[in-house]
Amino acid sequence: MIDQAQKLTLTSRAFHNNLLGEYAEFITSYFGYDKVLPMNTGVEGGETAIKLCRKWGYEVKGIESNKAKILFAKDNFWGRTLAAVSSSTDPKSYTNFGPFMTGFEIIDYNSISALEQALKDPNVAGFMVEPIQGEAGVVVPDEGYLKEVARLCKQHNVLFIADEVQTGIARTGKLLACDHEEVRPDILILGKALSGGVLPVSAVLCDNEIMDVLKPGEHGSTFGGNPLACAVAMEALKVVKDEQLAENAEKMGIIFRQRLSAIPSESIEVVRGKGLLNAVVIKPYSDNKTAYDICLALMKKGLLAKQTHDHIIRFAPPLTINETQVHECCDIIESVILEETSK
Ligand code: PLP
Repeated sequence: MIDQAQKLTLTSRAFHNNLLGEYAEFITSYFGYDKVLPMNTGVEGGETAIKLCRKWGYEVKGIESNKAKILFAKDNFWGRTLAAVSSSTDPKSYTNFGPFMTGFEIIDYNSISALEQALKDPNVAGFMVEPIQGEAGVVVPDEGYLKEVARLCKQHNVLFIADEVQTGIARTGKLLACDHEEVRPDILILGKALSGGVLPVSAVLCDNEIMDVLKPGEHGSTFGGNPLACAVAMEALKVVKDEQLAENAEKMGIIFRQRLSAIPSESIEVVRGKGLLNAVVIKPYSDNKTAYDICLALMKKGLLAKQTHDHIIRFAPPLTINETQVHECCDIIESVILEETSK
């Protein structure tokens, strides 16, 4: 980042710069897609995927004008733009922002029958889904769900859009969370870790049949694909492979969940997750204390974690964490949970 910042940080996307092409080549071969559309934040990646999907719906699938629909899963969270809040049931979205955008339908997560039912509508262009729901509380769907989603979408000529902004790039113990079920989304959205966390860098990847619905000038972004972002993203992706971060996340995650599952507390309802994206669901304990109180107690002992909803604590430690550090963290978590819940 420092090297590139000293050379060139931003050009208009209308002009050639020496990094965008190299980056496009690098990231498309890294993830195995024909093309990339570079954006900045995760939510912009989601917006871009939806635009692509709708345009594909009209121009390739042949949906009648203004009728295209996109399906979303209940409890999804992908940001706070108008499209994001219009397509979510997350309570954070409902704060007097209406009227919401239309053309979105929300179905149950982890329900193949709900998807089958919704896919009967020929105006459905896509299904956008997180392979593991992050903000909802690290909700891991049943094994086989993603495989079935991919199969049904293909069968109905509907695009399977995977929001891997939170789950992608080694977090869950594979390069992509979709890799756990060996499925390849039609549109892949990446963000967060794409820059190793130092800059807002997001990307939408898909094949020509989809991306080519956008013609020059029909999409753009001042900062999307800037030379600094390109250099940083390439380096971050190289580090993920060079340092075998997916393998580390897989191994450390197993130890982490084993340790947390062994905590002898009746207040723990469930420990769940994949790789280094995990959560502990707790039952309300004395005087209706919640996960937030446990997070505060963890903080006092030097461990930062954040609750989602009232009763879930999410743990997403750095992918570089080693075994000694995992045990150190688990010692803190164990002592805090035991202390807090026995009060
Ligand atoms: N998608 C998912 C699954 C997320 O968890 C988030 C943010 O938490 C986003 C999209 C939005 O990313 P950003 O905050 O970079 O816009």
